[in-house]
Amino acid sequence: MAGMSPDAPVPFIDPRTIVLFSGVMGGLMAIVLTFLRRSYPPTVQGLTDWAFGTYLLFFGGLAAASRGKSPELVSITLANLLIFSGMFYQFVGSQRFFGRRPRPLAGMLVIGALALVSGYFTVIDPSYRPRLMIYVGVITTLSVIHAHLIYRHGTRTFAHWFAFVVLMLAIASQVLRFTTAWLYPLGTGILDNTPQNLIYMIAHPFVMLLFAISLILMATDRVRAEFEHIATHDSLTNALTRRQLTEVCQQELQRCQRHGRVMSILLIDIDHFKSINDSRGHQTGDQVLVQFVTTVQTLLRSADVIGRLGGEEFVVLLPETSMDVAQVVAERIRSSINAMLEPTRFTVSIGVTTNLPIGDTVEALLARADAAMYQAKERGRDQVVLG
Ligand code: GH3
Ligand code: MG
Ligand code: MG
Repeated sequence: MAGMSPDAPVPFIDPRTIVLFSGVMGGLMAIVLTFLRRSYPPTVQGLTDWAFGTYLLFFGGLAAASRGKSPELVSITLANLLIFSGMFYQFVGSQRFFGRRPRPLAGMLVIGALALVSGYFTVIDPSYRPRLMIYVGVITTLSVIHAHLIYRHGTRTFAHWFAFVVLMLAIASQVLRFTTAWLYPLGTGILDNTPQNLIYMIAHPFVMLLFAISLILMATDRVRAEFEHIATHDSLTNALTRRQLTEVCQQELQRCQRHGRVMSILLIDIDHFKSINDSRGHQTGDQVLVQFVTTVQTLLRSADVIGRLGGEEFVVLLPETSMDVAQVVAERIRSSINAMLEPTRFTVSIGVTTNLPIGDTVEALLARADAAMYQAKERGRDQVVLG
């Protein structure tokens, strides 16, 4: 330590600055979430509650940072209430995000009651330990139920893992707080300059910041998935678009050529569809298209896909399926459609084909299936022809 004078300032992180810093971070993230809510499609649910919860955390941070400069009712009790409610509303937002029906009132009653008890130990019978235990208990419980929700409903994307891991960090920091509260002298409050308080307070802003970022990532992921779905699926029937279908067929054909496997396709055309439109109206025609796709989907395995070539023509791709099996599937589709009564009876003609071992293309496959389908029309419709 040569050259350092004995009265040089010791490196010191002011706890109040950290609490304030965490609050400001929360405020900025809340603003970002508010703007996302305005620019993202309304199908992405939960952003309002996420933003609201994050604003509450912001004000909770401000209230906590005013410790010593404002009444304890504000810097402790109100701060706790805001932080509890903020975390709770972030949870409510996630419930909406995952399509659940939240019950915010019941949760807020519990949180309000716990904040009252905490207030009792602040104003009437001031005591840090019960207050701390309530705080640790509420934050841990909210983090656990939130992590559980994300684990159960989240798709296994980076955003969901990130949110889950951050909640685990939040839980870990609360466990640390709980443990140190029994191992070491407790002091009088969070702003006491003890090592465990410093660790906890450095963890707090990072956990809050990272969690708000993970919410933003989750929302962004959802929007990307929705746009991707819109780009690859037909808006009326939800079958794949022609472009996507061709793409998937191309990939499957390449896989077949690499590994010497077989695939089959069915080209399905609805018979006399024009007359359904003409006699029952375009809307009934649309309904028939939707019902056709829904029915076919119930008859397919999960690896099979259906796409709409255009109008009332569809293609079903059957990976790893020989001509014999494809014929059985086609026949099952034909007879199921034939047996349907609502909203209008109709029939289909189906052309079936399988990939050639070498030199086949998607265009050639589709052309063979199309030729077979036209043969089915010529032979009187409502039948399956192999090509
Ligand atoms: P065929 O048995 O020979 O296949 O006769 P068809 O009437 O089914 O075939 P055609 O190609 O003559 O008629 C197809 C009709 O499908 C014409 C078109 O107006 C209608 N159509 C195409 N797309 C849609 C749609 O999205 N909704 C509805 N309701 N009708 C559509
Ligand atoms: Mg037709
Ligand atoms: Mg047609």
